[in-house]
Amino acid sequence: MTRITVAKGDGIGPEIMDATLSIILAAGARIEIDEIEVGEKVYLSGNTSGIARESWDVIRRNKVFLKAPITTPQGGGYKSLNVTTRKFLGLYANVRPCVSLHPFVKTKHPVMDLVIIRENEEDLYAGIEHQQTDEVMQCLKLISRPGCEKIVRYAFEYAKQYGRKKVTCFTKDNIMKQTDGLFHKVFDEIAAEYPEIENEHWIVDIGSAKMADTPEAFDVIVMPNLYGDILSDVAAQIAGSVGLAGSANIGEECAMFEAIHGSAPRRAGQNMANPSGLLQGAIQMLTHIGQNDVAEKVQNAWLRTIEEGIHTYDIYKEGVSKQKVGTREFAEAVIARLSQRPEILKAVSYAKGAALKLPKYVRKAPALKELVGVDVFVHHGSTTPDALAANLRRIEQECRVKLTMITNRGIKVWPEGFEETFCTDHWRCRFKPAEGRILAKKSIAMILSAIDELSIDSIKTENLYDFDGVPCYALGQGQ
Ligand code: NAD
Repeated sequence: MTRITVAKGDGIGPEIMDATLSIILAAGARIEIDEIEVGEKVYLSGNTSGIARESWDVIRRNKVFLKAPITTPQGGGYKSLNVTTRKFLGLYANVRPCVSLHPFVKTKHPVMDLVIIRENEEDLYAGIEHQQTDEVMQCLKLISRPGCEKIVRYAFEYAKQYGRKKVTCFTKDNIMKQTDGLFHKVFDEIAAEYPEIENEHWIVDIGSAKMADTPEAFDVIVMPNLYGDILSDVAAQIAGSVGLAGSANIGEECAMFEAIHGSAPRRAGQNMANPSGLLQGAIQMLTHIGQNDVAEKVQNAWLRTIEEGIHTYDIYKEGVSKQKVGTREFAEAVIARLSQRPEILKAVSYAKGAALKLPKYVRKAPALKELVGVDVFVHHGSTTPDALAANLRRIEQECRVKLTMITNRGIKVWPEGFEETFCTDHWRCRFKPAEGRILAKKSIAMILSAIDELSIDSIKTENLYDFDGVPCYALGQGQ
């Protein structure tokens, strides 16, 4: 018996949760349920997080959470419960299988069967944003080695457990050489530990185009948070319908399972909604807790129901569908087929199960880290960089540094910039030591103070480091 936490959510949530639970319990799921209240009622009672303290205790104790969609009220500073749950519980992997159900659900991609594994905690979603000048905002993209190692290893272990043949990585490391570069590098390192699984890397733009056009070329795709957020919806949509997909959010301790769609308030209380998305989430939950026999039984009965043309309104199609049913009747139809397998769609077989056990992250020995310069960002109304450079060079002697470059939005504009380059009020000014290679840390404070004396508004600094003798910072475009 596994004790799980269940939240019935808002809108169509209670109906699809009742349907889902009735199916998995009829299939023999060995679960005990603790129900908690989250979502609209909790938000409107004045709790901006949408969940009470005691409910967190239940989720953390049981470690397995099946959640129906919830309604986040508009405005009023309400925080998305999904994002909060992922971050609080360290749910680093978002796993979304996207399989086509051709010819029973319309799709242009009849043989699509892929799984998107999205990093769920870092990247641009760390939420570290600042306005720095009148014209420029910044969002920090943070990619960490432990973050990359965990998600990439998860992807390979997932492929191994579910008999998948290939893991593909999508990044944009031709542009973001440090952040996406790290993700790609870690992918190559870990791929080498799984010689039995094919691996490949695509630049995310052409990779996405290929995925949208020829999804059957892919099996498991692993990627950083932002690309994964976008492409997992694209993949679900081209498989047939976002209404049919479930997802798992996996952490080292806890896991949350859900449908990918929302609470569809206009359909609520009418026994119309399709419970399939949440049921798919529940099937992922059953494999996670090692009840593969039940997961397999439910998935095959569900496939059989779909291929017999028993469809809810959202996928009902004249000529293909046989019977239009409501939420409850759909669940009853699946229950009635629990000992059957599909005849046309491919039956599933989940031989092995249980939560994937990944090794704990082992921190590497620190590299030799040397400070070799500093980028000082300034807010300056000048439209030509030459005047700014002339001004800044006045501090060179006093601070024993050289101004080596000025960029604007990453493009080198001094020395030898182009007049045609459009400039904002946000400038990156790179200082290197006047002599030798190493910059003393206290020089940074001197530079800032000297710039202040010039009445130039410095807004932030970034230290330039060599790690083990390798420069680990971006050059200016055109440098
Ligand atoms: P939605 O996914 O609820 O609905 C989009 C469309 O799909 C609607 O036409 C709806 O009727 C239909 N639909 C969705 N699920 C269906 C199902 N199971 N069966 C049949 N039809 C279905 O998206 P929305 O309208 O943008 O959002 C509604 C609410 O859901 C918002 O408050 C939003 O914040 C919330 N939301 C919650 C989650 C979550 O809890 N994970 C995710 C997305 C949106």
